[in-house]
Amino acid sequence: MTKRDLDIAIIGAGPGGLTAGLYAGRAALRAVCFEKQGIGGQIANTDRVEDYPGFERIGGYELAERMANHARKFGLEIDFTEVLRISPPDAGHRITLELADGRSLTAGAVIASPGGTPRKLGVPGEDRLQNRGVSYCALCDGAFFRDQVIVVVGGGDQAVEEGAFLTKFATVVHLVHRREDFRASKVAQDHAFGNGKLQVHRSTVVTEILGQDRVEGVRLRNLASDEETVLAAGAVFPLIGFRPNTGMLPPEVEKSEGGYVITDSWMRTNVPGIYAVGDVREQLCRQVTNAVGDGTTAAVAAEKYIDGLAG
Ligand SMILES: Cc1cc2nc3c(=O)[nH]c(=O)nc-3n(C[C@H](O)[C@H](O)[C@H](O)COP(=O)(O)OP(=O)(O)OC[C@H]3O[C@@H](n4cnc5c(N)ncnc54)[C@H](O)[C@@H]3O)c2cc1C
Repeated sequence: MTKRDLDIAIIGAGPGGLTAGLYAGRAALRAVCFEKQGIGGQIANTDRVEDYPGFERIGGYELAERMANHARKFGLEIDFTEVLRISPPDAGHRITLELADGRSLTAGAVIASPGGTPRKLGVPGEDRLQNRGVSYCALCDGAFFRDQVIVVVGGGDQAVEEGAFLTKFATVVHLVHRREDFRASKVAQDHAFGNGKLQVHRSTVVTEILGQDRVEGVRLRNLASDEETVLAAGAVFPLIGFRPNTGMLPPEVEKSEGGYVITDSWMRTNVPGIYAVGDVREQLCRQVTNAVGDGTTAAVAAEKYIDGLAG
């Protein structure tokens, strides 16, 4: 296969991209998946996955490896190079990709599955205790902290809604917000703040996450009084936002207010031949199951698009 003439270029070897690659391979399309780091995306950094159908429990990296091997078996090539830029289709309907190693190639369709990055607090203990009680996904990891004290950080819809969700498992959820007022919608606040298991700490920041091998607590500072306290807790969820990785896409690709790519139900963006799947696109849930479903749809839709161009 000459990489200069691909049917489908896939950006990102997370669950979305690997599934798109599996379907593209099975459809005998010339597909390459470009990945700037390692296989698996976000899921590779997760030690336990308990909500992927068919696997009651599997390590995140093992799941990623299985997906990658499965896609390779059907002919997907994974090329460990970053995609820097994609241009919209030219007059001949070819999309040009510029790669970090200086190569440039064209594809009939691009499936963008570059995911996104949870925003971090940037406090001592956060990186060291990630996956040891520090998590950025309440839906994914909340159930691992049954009957424990949970700290949620943030003041937007994500923190308030997911803080309320975590009360299903926790003995108590401490919602820590650096300002007096919350940005979350009034409906979300009314719902959460009426919950007896949720305690709100306004004008307060987490200055350190404490613990040796697992989260044991947080150090808090009240910004009004400058008073420091230590709160014992088994888990910390910084829910202060998620940055979709869209920098490589052409600026004309339409995005939501939060910066997520807008697609239709076929995963088509507003730019012909460019599809977006998984965490990078505007949708209700960001889970592996969503990403793999999107990847399937995008690969089938892209195949139809390419066939249509071929007449
Ligand atoms: C802490 C945590 C725990 C989680 N636990 C679960 C769970 O238990 N169950 C569950 O269903 N979901 C879980 N999730 C969510 C799940 O990981 C994501 O929904 C899923 O990985 C999204 O897949 P994706 O393919 O869209 O993106 P990602 O997994 O983010 O993969 C994107 C890939 O694209 C690559 N990339 C980005 N830009 C470029 C570029 N320019 N060029 C080349 N490559 C690029 C990245 O390096 C990355 O490998 C968890 C998430 C987190 C953060």
